[in-house]
Amino acid sequence: MSETGFVGEPIVVASPNVEYSKNEIISRYEYRESRVNGNIVTPLNENLTFKTQRKIPKTGVLLVGWGGNNGTTLTAGILANKLKTTWMTKEGEQHANFLGSICRSVTMRIGIDNNLQPVYAPLFGVIPMLNPTDLDIWGWDISNMSIANAMVRARVFDYDLQRKLYPELKDMIPWPSVYSEDFIAANQSERANNIIHGTKQEQLQTLRQNIRDFKQSRGIENVIVLWTANTERYAELREGLNDTADNLLRSIEADASEIAPSTLFAVASILEGCTYINGSPQNTFIPGVIELSERHQVLIAGDDFKTGQTKIKTVLCDFLINSGLKLASVVSYNHLGNNDGKNLSAPKTFRSKEISKSGVIDDVIRANRLIYGENEHPDHCVVIKYVPYVGDSKRAMDEYTSEIFMGGRNTIVLHNTCEDSLLAAPIILDLILLAELCTRVQIKRTQDEEFSRMHPVLSILSFLLKSPQVPSGSPIVHSLFNQRYSITNFIRALVGLPPETFMLLEHKIP
Ligand code: NAD
Repeated sequence: MSETGFVGEPIVVASPNVEYSKNEIISRYEYRESRVNGNIVTPLNENLTFKTQRKIPKTGVLLVGWGGNNGTTLTAGILANKLKTTWMTKEGEQHANFLGSICRSVTMRIGIDNNLQPVYAPLFGVIPMLNPTDLDIWGWDISNMSIANAMVRARVFDYDLQRKLYPELKDMIPWPSVYSEDFIAANQSERANNIIHGTKQEQLQTLRQNIRDFKQSRGIENVIVLWTANTERYAELREGLNDTADNLLRSIEADASEIAPSTLFAVASILEGCTYINGSPQNTFIPGVIELSERHQVLIAGDDFKTGQTKIKTVLCDFLINSGLKLASVVSYNHLGNNDGKNLSAPKTFRSKEISKSGVIDDVIRANRLIYGENEHPDHCVVIKYVPYVGDSKRAMDEYTSEIFMGGRNTIVLHNTCEDSLLAAPIILDLILLAELCTRVQIKRTQDEEFSRMHPVLSILSFLLKSPQVPSGSPIVHSLFNQRYSITNFIRALVGLPPETFMLLEHKIP
């Protein structure tokens, strides 16, 4: 351990409740909750056993929308880290890093040392995690531009960095993809020159074959498919069309026009046994897809990467309301000039984003009926405008107005400027790394029970998603720090450590 209380080596928990074998970590864990009945609260303990496979399988990710700003930034960013690329800017020499990734750049408290001081370790030091530079990346795009040229088109990386990475990326040409003009903005049609033709059933077969070829040609054991393509409009939910897994598969066979491209990708991925992550706001996970994932026990996660404005919003709402202030109005303006902004300038795709952004303060309000009435909630308005000149550098302006003590008002105004894709890429990486970890975790309740995989809907990834999918009946948590501690406490559970309590009782008891 270093003098700063940081453990660089993988940690080993010495406890009778934890066994480390060559292949697995088995942890017996006491999960504590309280059952509330009227005003009677009864503490409950449940004994769970977690089994985590230590060996990380060779993993590949297939990006849908690979040639977009996020896809190219992620691919080139990982490559730059792998090659330890340096580049010059007017600020001097720059080095590749993974800032913005909780898996690579964040530590968690693991305990105290002999002087009762806190000790921290990186998440990947507590539980084995995939190293991003070992990840194989490929993908689909409706544009056949090489990833090198698409990186240049994105105008995200500095020129010198682009120049150094270009040769490595020039032979990466995305596979043709499923395109439906009806589901994304009409202004995207000019880049759609790389399309899988045929019926929906034939398109599905092609996607499945692509996944199999990727696996076979590179010896990949575990594939994750991740949608970072343009935001689609919402698909209609209709009985008989997409309400059950069987109806959905039948509708694909019948070439039903209301099956979105993203839904076809999700179905292909699930049928191939590959985790599917949705990084955009549309309702890819219609009931039929969720049922299919449960039937095949394949993990899914979504929706919509949580990057700048929403992250701040969930933190500020948590801070204001949990300080006892009555947040009364939240107004958010964004303008951006990248292709995502162009696509969102169409009302039908904007609507998907608006829905995704608007639910993020609900749980904090629901938890506090002392200051909000049963159906009361703050005014919440979201505006997004396309301004080509600012490119990927998104501007977000937010105003938070709260009622304070004895009739006072408090207004906070924020202005945030940031390269959108440089925020999104590390979040995409975390989604991949944590989803991969979840594929190696199994749980059982009693000793005689067989181990089973985690629930297919990965709510544990909520920290990274604006509008988290959760298992049916499970509450949606938006509060950012609760989401973060649900990840680190889960990792602690995998190695038999109790959840972080922040009580510091060792310093409070004389
Ligand atoms: P982008 O427009 O630069 O990239 C999207 C890519 O998807 C394009 O290359 C486009 O050709 C391709 N595409 C469109 N339809 C496709 C299809 N059916 N199949 C395959 N490829 C298709 O956008 P971006 O900035 O990379 O963002 C990607 C997505 O991530 C958007 O939906 C956006 O709303 C979402 N998102 C981004 C952020 C962020 O901060 N960057 C945050 C949250 C969500």
